[in-house]
Amino acid sequence: MSISLRNVRKDYDQQTKVLESVSAEVQTGEFFVIVGPSGCGKSTLLRMVAGLTPITDGEVRINNQVVNELPPKARKLTMVFQNYALYPFLSVWDNVAFGLKARKLSQSDIQHRVDNALKMVSLSDLSKRKPRELSGGQRQRVALARAVASDADICLMDEPLSNLDAQLRIKMRQEIYNLQRKLGLTLIYVTHDQVEAMTMADHIMVLNDQHVQQIGTPSEIYQHPANEFVAQFFGTPQINILPAKRSTQNNHILTFATNNMQVALNEEIPIDSLRIGVRPDELTVARAESVDSNAVVKNTEFLGNETIIYATLNSGDDVRAVLPGQVSFRGYEPIKIGIGSHLLFFDNDGKQIALTKEEAVHA
Ligand code: ADP
Repeated sequence: MSISLRNVRKDYDQQTKVLESVSAEVQTGEFFVIVGPSGCGKSTLLRMVAGLTPITDGEVRINNQVVNELPPKARKLTMVFQNYALYPFLSVWDNVAFGLKARKLSQSDIQHRVDNALKMVSLSDLSKRKPRELSGGQRQRVALARAVASDADICLMDEPLSNLDAQLRIKMRQEIYNLQRKLGLTLIYVTHDQVEAMTMADHIMVLNDQHVQQIGTPSEIYQHPANEFVAQFFGTPQINILPAKRSTQNNHILTFATNNMQVALNEEIPIDSLRIGVRPDELTVARAESVDSNAVVKNTEFLGNETIIYATLNSGDDVRAVLPGQVSFRGYEPIKIGIGSHLLFFDNDGKQIALTKEEAVHA
């Protein structure tokens, strides 16, 4: 079951315009993640696919049929929400069976589907318990079992893990991923968490500011972000963005950090000033005498397998660097920061421009 969005718009009213010209193709059996900051319209978009919220303009297609006017039930999909809304007085088994009974399936069909779904999410032993006798993760699995039992080809999930603690989230992330693969579900999954998006998605749609910022595989989004917003949304610590100018002597050379750092590019730089994006693990950090230094350390954070160094360049720009292992620096220690070869470049509107750094380092 494929899903297609074509120029979808949503205005709740004149003041609340949430989404504009959202287009995307979700292929059959794909794990498709919609990610973006809180309030950007992710839930709204998912609810429009489900048929729970009317669309203002555009088309939603399921298997190439326009479903704009179809009620939720007729769309043959299931939803798993953040607050998984279990019936407190029903057992786990009956909670999973509830939707099936409403569909008037035969008793033996219901029995088979519920047993199977509970087995799939490893809850067979707890089928007689009430929701209050379960942990948060187990409750979330009941909600998943409901989706599995419904046997719909399309499943929509809205932040299903946001109520769980960090360790359980990682575990459930893997379970949802495995389930999706095993059942061949077409899954649209909404989250504000970039790590969930990166680890589970076949394709990610990044939403912000009413618009689709980019759709791509996790590696496309990380390696080739369409703009500064996408570059900053993915990766922890955040990518460094540094203002730079084209050298007046040589139009292949960019200077930044008050002219004391330079990179040479393979191609002519098309604009006077731009912004360089460099991931924290692409920066090098060396101890330096004051005269050779281009930055001072502000503070460091040791995370066990790596150290984050927060520093201020002589220009006043703050940067973050990540070094493997444990590295200690004194506060205000002078250092020399160098930049690696994987750089991104953005114009003054934040759009990525394709430029590459020359192999030989001039800095
Ligand atoms: P997200 O899921 O990305 O956090 P939502 O889709 O929930 O974002 O909300 C997007 C915007 O639409 C928000 O500004 C929110 O306040 C607004 N909104 C959501 N639902 C309604 C509604 N039923 N009526 C009016 N405005 C709404």
